[in-house]
Amino acid sequence: MNYKIPRGTYDILPSQSHDWHKIISAFRQLAAACGYEEITTPVFEQAQLFERSSGETSDVVKKEMYRFTDQKGREFALRPEGTAPVARSYLENRLDIGAAHSKLYYVGPMFRYDRPQAGRYRQFYQYGIEFIGSDHPYFDAEVISILWNYLSVLGIKRMRLELNSVGCPECSKAYDQALQDYFRPHLNELCPDCQIRHSQKPRRLLDCKVKTCKQIAQGAPSQLDYLDEPCKVHFASVQDYLARMNIPFVINPRIVRGLDYYTNTAFEVIYEGLGAQNSLAGGGRYNGLLEQIGGKNIPAIGFAGGFERLLLALREEQIDLGARPVADAYLITMGPAAQQLALPLLSQLRLGGIWVEYDPTKNSFKAQLKAANNCQARFALIIGEDEAAAGKALLKDLQSGEQRLLELDAANQFIEAFKRN
Ligand code: AMP
Repeated sequence: MNYKIPRGTYDILPSQSHDWHKIISAFRQLAAACGYEEITTPVFEQAQLFERSSGETSDVVKKEMYRFTDQKGREFALRPEGTAPVARSYLENRLDIGAAHSKLYYVGPMFRYDRPQAGRYRQFYQYGIEFIGSDHPYFDAEVISILWNYLSVLGIKRMRLELNSVGCPECSKAYDQALQDYFRPHLNELCPDCQIRHSQKPRRLLDCKVKTCKQIAQGAPSQLDYLDEPCKVHFASVQDYLARMNIPFVINPRIVRGLDYYTNTAFEVIYEGLGAQNSLAGGGRYNGLLEQIGGKNIPAIGFAGGFERLLLALREEQIDLGARPVADAYLITMGPAAQQLALPLLSQLRLGGIWVEYDPTKNSFKAQLKAANNCQARFALIIGEDEAAAGKALLKDLQSGEQRLLELDAANQFIEAFKRN
């Protein structure tokens, strides 16, 4: 074979799909129960959308974005994240009309060019929530609680919710100044990226993974000491709501989040068993984003998590998502007359949602019964020559051995029999 899968990507094989379906449908179910509706946007967008929203100096835009030019010279990017596309769609489709706020969720692939490692891929799948249209702290807590409850309902225990407030553009100014003052005497010791961050986005100095930068950052001033009064009140209220919702959290004033558009609440769920990539999910309030991309000043909050790290955490805690499903029945026919009678029944059963396996290349009864056992089907549906002559089929429970004859033209009776088991 001459072809290989691109580095940093992977196939989800049939044996793994069951787990994926489980975690995706658990997310959809919980989001729906909270009144959130699914939104699906394209996997590529105008590159500028991400530059304007995430920030041109963010790592995601500067180093990690898959950009391409189409046949007409237009600049596009494979989406590195889901929030900006949802915000774009919200504005473009005027989802603000007629509703006080929009409660949206998404599931889908994202793309970032980064060095692949455990828990970090170039194509990865995210689940996310976006609540657009209110600045009320209750909604911060609601969004955070959906994330926490989702992970909890799947059984994850060794996780920690970290909470911070990054303030509003007003109080950020004073904090950025304080950070610049703090880091200035250490400028020569910082990595080349941080030397640029110092003048452009001092807050990102707190997020650097280089050891010396990390050490220096330890003594940096805390954002929380620079919050203005409204931001303080908002942050206290979010904490209050979370406590009332029984969502445990710790305050971590170091959370900055990688993208530019965050304001006020920022949060992350950390899972220690994941090694370097220990962030299970993260999010925050992004009150400035919609205006930044050409809309009105509409407040919003959301989060995104990666399914890959979620699966790693589930494995780490040995949480079983249930066995791979098996066929309801295996159809066994003997001779051409039986086959002729069986095929319409086979279609009807499958249309009725019953998983029936059939393989006409196996002729003998023994070979067909063996195949039924191999695929662990619960029932054998047997139409031998005698049954065919009588217009009947034998439904045999392969576990208990119990069997009964049913009329071939009464597909409903079969469907009932399967559904009862
Ligand atoms: P972010 O958009 O960077 O805040 O990421 C949100 C979540 O998406 C993280 O907590 C991870 O679970 C997941 N994630 C981000 N980047 C990657 C990646 N390259 N590979 C796998 N998962 C990722």
